[in-house]
Amino acid sequence: MVTTDAASDDRQLRGTPVVPGLAYGPALLVRTEVAEQAISAYGDGGHADADAALAAYDTAAAAVAEGFEAKAGRASGAAAEVLTASAGLARDKGLRGGVKKRLGSGEDLIAAVRGSVEQFVGVFTSMGGLMAERATDLKDIEKRVVARLVGEPEPGVQLPDEPAVLVAEDLAPADTAGLDPAVVLALVTERGGSTSHTAIIARQLGLPCIVGVAGALELAAGSPVLVDGVAGTVATGVDPDEARRLVEEDRVLRAELESWTGPAETTDGTRVKVLANVADGESAAAAAAGPVEGVGLFRTELSFLNRKDEPSVEEQADIYAAVLDPFEGRYVVVRTLDAGSDKPIAFATHEGEENPALGVRGLRLSFDNPGLLERQLDGIARAAERTGTETWVMAPMVATVAEARDFAEQVRGRGLKAGVMVEVPSAALLAHRMLEAVDFLSIGTNDLTQYAMATDRMATDLAHLTDPWQPAVLQLVAITAEAGKQAGKPVGVCGEAAADPLLALVLVGMGITSLSMAAAAVRPVGAQLSRVSMDTCERAAEAALAAPDPLTARDAVRALLG
Ligand code: PEP
Ligand code: MG
Repeated sequence: MVTTDAASDDRQLRGTPVVPGLAYGPALLVRTEVAEQAISAYGDGGHADADAALAAYDTAAAAVAEGFEAKAGRASGAAAEVLTASAGLARDKGLRGGVKKRLGSGEDLIAAVRGSVEQFVGVFTSMGGLMAERATDLKDIEKRVVARLVGEPEPGVQLPDEPAVLVAEDLAPADTAGLDPAVVLALVTERGGSTSHTAIIARQLGLPCIVGVAGALELAAGSPVLVDGVAGTVATGVDPDEARRLVEEDRVLRAELESWTGPAETTDGTRVKVLANVADGESAAAAAAGPVEGVGLFRTELSFLNRKDEPSVEEQADIYAAVLDPFEGRYVVVRTLDAGSDKPIAFATHEGEENPALGVRGLRLSFDNPGLLERQLDGIARAAERTGTETWVMAPMVATVAEARDFAEQVRGRGLKAGVMVEVPSAALLAHRMLEAVDFLSIGTNDLTQYAMATDRMATDLAHLTDPWQPAVLQLVAITAEAGKQAGKPVGVCGEAAADPLLALVLVGMGITSLSMAAAAVRPVGAQLSRVSMDTCERAAEAALAAPDPLTARDAVRALLG
């Protein structure tokens, strides 16, 4: 959405905010295409034969891969992993094989590179989920290889000398991973969802970030912009002194939030459990050092992404115990294997599904392979016994009450508390009956949004639909929370929505009893909750539910907070 004020240069663009914070600085527009003139001038490259053309490709692809590796060496964590993966893709034998074949059949080099990339993009895209994200990486590699061939600089971010706001169509991993927060003030992209590379890296670097901003690239290069990562606005024409005052105020507020030590309680005494999402023993130990009351989501499948064979019960017990151990005296919600779709696991996933997000994933894997779930539950029960940590167990992708009942019976049979995730709209609509069968519910807003809005959660051009502030998604959450209140049983949220401090108020106002999130989000969310009354949360919930769209809902809740 673009709003303009005819009387002045003031312009305000809006998008989906993914990392909170205010920033003010000149817009640096990122060039993502290789100049067409240079490509035309290169023509067929004048290579003597197909072998000579392939040798030119090898040199260009190797230079691109080395560029990625050099950046990886200067980065760390997720950024370094993403860059190393891109280097691997640039050296990919299959991609090279495609180029060779096309050269052999008479295509010129640039057409051969583009054709081979297009073929692999098609393959990745049809796989959906995380694999589809690789399509962006491949297209980025294509542009870089072509740039090398025609003697142009590789497209992407040229870091500024002065601090600036990066504005791009979408940022490739190579762009985001090399970012230096000292000179990059904020990220604004026209495309990209809340799970895109841009969003992941922005969260890691703590850079204010807004995605899905239509018209962002029409901003005048170098014009000063005020980016608001809470409201999702990019404003031009703001008085510089006023902008700097607002940024400073925001910096002080954020520093205050970081000093929050818990527990979370509204000003009138309603306690809300703030919990961590973890993937393994290492992340659990790090989270346990923070102000959390336990783990609200242990994604067990992440320990098995690189496993060809199913680990034995004893081996599984060791993996689970490493997570339970640091939380002795608190509690951990273990989620059983959520394999399939965006998280393929070699020993569990069903191959060749037309539509894996709607296929045999999560709990459904146990329908024709009950032993898989039984052995996992045995492993969890052993770890719980060994560590003495209170352990709750929940199943992902539950669609019917019968599934919930059957799962609960198996979990309780091992002396543990049983729950299910609410990720499928049918589970939300039948939450009251689900709660007759289980001890607790946990809402996975990432998948609940995907299924309620019929929008792939990884889609980079549908950010406005994959937004948990969508009124339909909020209605499903409200129905589930209300069922929890009626039954007197806990209902938590463990999707990304719980990490949004503003949305957290709405969720608590609906009656959500716990919020589980990435450890980095715990303090801002806990601090925000501890500054408001339950009455404010309830009014926030009412306002958000009544709003016609996500942007209006956010504005309404912000207005309530003054
Ligand atoms: C969710 O869907 O919101 C969730 C927490 O599960 P995951 O993101 O692992 O699919
Ligand atoms: Mg999920």
